[in-house]
Amino acid sequence: MKYVLITGGVVSGLGKGVTASSIGVVLQACGLRVTSIKIDPYLNTDAGTMSPFEHGEVFVLDDGGEVDLDLGNYERFLDVTLTKDNNITTGKIYQSVLDKERKGDYLGKTVQVVPHITNAIKDWIESVALIPVDGKEGPADVCVIELGGTVGDIESMPFIEALRQLSFSVGPDNFCLIHVSLIPVLGVVGEQKTKPTQHSVRELRALGLTPHLLACRSAQPLLDNTKVKLSQFCHVEAANILNIHDVPNIWHVPLLLRNQNAHLSILKQLNLLSIAAPPDLEAWTRRAETFDNLTDSVRIAMVGKYVGLTDSYLSVVKALLHACIACSLKPTIDWIAASDLEDDTAQSAPEAHAAAWKRLRNAECVLVPGGFGDRGVCGMILAAKYARENNVPYLGICLGMQISVIEYARSVLGLEKANSHEFDEDTPDPVVIFMPEGSRTHMGSTMRLGSRRTLFQTPDCVTSKLYCNPHYVDERHRHRYEVNPDVIGVLEEAGLKFVGKDETGKRMEVLELPGHPFYVGVQFHPEFKSRPGKPSALFLGLILSARGKLEAYLSRYQNGS
Ligand code: GLN
Repeated sequence: MKYVLITGGVVSGLGKGVTASSIGVVLQACGLRVTSIKIDPYLNTDAGTMSPFEHGEVFVLDDGGEVDLDLGNYERFLDVTLTKDNNITTGKIYQSVLDKERKGDYLGKTVQVVPHITNAIKDWIESVALIPVDGKEGPADVCVIELGGTVGDIESMPFIEALRQLSFSVGPDNFCLIHVSLIPVLGVVGEQKTKPTQHSVRELRALGLTPHLLACRSAQPLLDNTKVKLSQFCHVEAANILNIHDVPNIWHVPLLLRNQNAHLSILKQLNLLSIAAPPDLEAWTRRAETFDNLTDSVRIAMVGKYVGLTDSYLSVVKALLHACIACSLKPTIDWIAASDLEDDTAQSAPEAHAAAWKRLRNAECVLVPGGFGDRGVCGMILAAKYARENNVPYLGICLGMQISVIEYARSVLGLEKANSHEFDEDTPDPVVIFMPEGSRTHMGSTMRLGSRRTLFQTPDCVTSKLYCNPHYVDERHRHRYEVNPDVIGVLEEAGLKFVGKDETGKRMEVLELPGHPFYVGVQFHPEFKSRPGKPSALFLGLILSARGKLEAYLSRYQNGS
C-alpha cells in the first residue's frame, strides 16, 4: 500500500478536504485505484452527535456510519463507497484501546499514548486502507489520508507521531506527504507572504515529518519568486510547490493540480511512474467548464432550520448542483429560515416574514431537507402547504416528508392537531411516531441508519420511473420517526399515496401526490449518493419539474429510451 498524507498548516478552513479529494481524482485519472481515510482529532466517537450549526452536515454512509462531511467529498469526487472505519477519531481510538485494557489484553503493562495509542492508530490505518471501496476486488493502490486540524494542535499530536512511525515503517517509496498551507497577501504592500508557511513546515519537521510537496492556497496565482523562496526555506523541491489559487468552482482543483504536474511529483515519490498512465480528466474538464458557463438559473427555495451555515446541507446543495448541471441550469438557492414563514414572525419581525414569503413565492420549486427538533416546523408546514396547493414542485427529505404528512392530515383530513411525536408527545393525532428498529426501551443508537431497501408498490409512480427501476431502490437513512402505519389508510383514501415501503411494508419510504406536477416525500436521504455526472434521480425530477420538463423526460423512459 502506498500512502499520501495531507496535513494542514497556518489556519483551518483551507480546503484540505477538497485538496485531498482532488489529489485522489488526479491519481485515479492516472489509472490507479484510490481509497481514503479522514482523521478527525476530536474526542467525539463520530459526527453523529455534533450540531450541524457548528460542524456542518453529518454525512451518512451505506454502513450507517455518521461521519465528517469530508467523507462526502471523497465519495463524490472519487465515486467510492466508504465505511465508517474510514473516519478515524480520537474517540474511536481511545475507545478501542480502553476496551482492550479492560479485557486485560495489555497483560499488566502501563497503557500509554506512546506506544499503545499510536500503535492503535497505525493498525487502524493499515487495516482500513486494505478495504476495497470502489466495487472492485482487492485493496486499492493508494490510500489518501487527510489529517484534520492544523499541525501543532495538541489533539493531533498522537496522530502525527503515529504517522511519523508509519512513514518510517512503510519506507520512503510508499509515503508521500503533502502539506497544505496559506500564502496571504498583506494589503498595503501586496506581497505574497511565505513566513506562515515556513513556520508551519518547521513545526512539522520538528515533529519528524518532512513534506515532499507543498500545496499553497492563495487568492491569486503564486509568483515565481514566492515559489523560489518557499522551496529554499521549506526544503521542498521547486517542482513540488503546488499552487491552489482561487478558482470559479471546486471541480477546477483537480485540473489545476494536473496542470502543475502534481501527479508526476507524487508518482515519482511513490515510485509509481512506471505503472501510471497520463491523467485522463476529460469528464472533469467538461464539467468544470460547463458549470462556469451556465447562465440560465433555476430558483430553488430551501426551507430549513440550519440555513445560517450552508455547510449544514452540503450534500443537498451538491445534489442540486449535479441535477441542475444535467439540465444545463445554474442553481440559485434561496435560503429561507423556516421560522421566518411563521405567523408569529409576521408580528415580531414583519420584514423578515415578508421577505421569506416573497422568496418562497418567487421560487420555481421547494425543498424541505432533513432536520431534528421543533424549531421552524410550523414554517416548513406552511411551505409544504403552499407548494401543494399552488402546484409548485416539492421535494421533502426525511423531516420534509414527515412535514408533508402532518400538513396533509391537518389541511385535508381536518385533523388540526395532527403532529409528530417528536414535536408534541401529547398530540391526539400522531401521524408520525417513534418506530425504533431495535429495542423500544433503549434510547441510545435508536436511529435507523444507513442503506435500506425501498420496494416500490407500483411501477407506475414517478419515483420508480425516475430511478429507472420498477422494483426497488437502496438509499441511506438517518431518522428515528416514521409515518404512523395506522393512518396510512385514511391518508391514501384522501389522495396521498405511499408508493415506496420497506421490506416489511410497515415503514413508509416514499409518498407522492398524484395530479400534482411533482410532490414527493422520501424518508431516506437521496442526497448522499448523488455524484457529479450521476445526479440523484429525485433531485433531477425536482429540477425537471421546475422547468416543466418532467413529463417529456418520463415518457422517454416509458418508451424505453
Ligand atoms: N427528526 C426526524 C426523525 O428523527 C427526521 C430526521 C431527519 O430529517 N434526518 O425521524
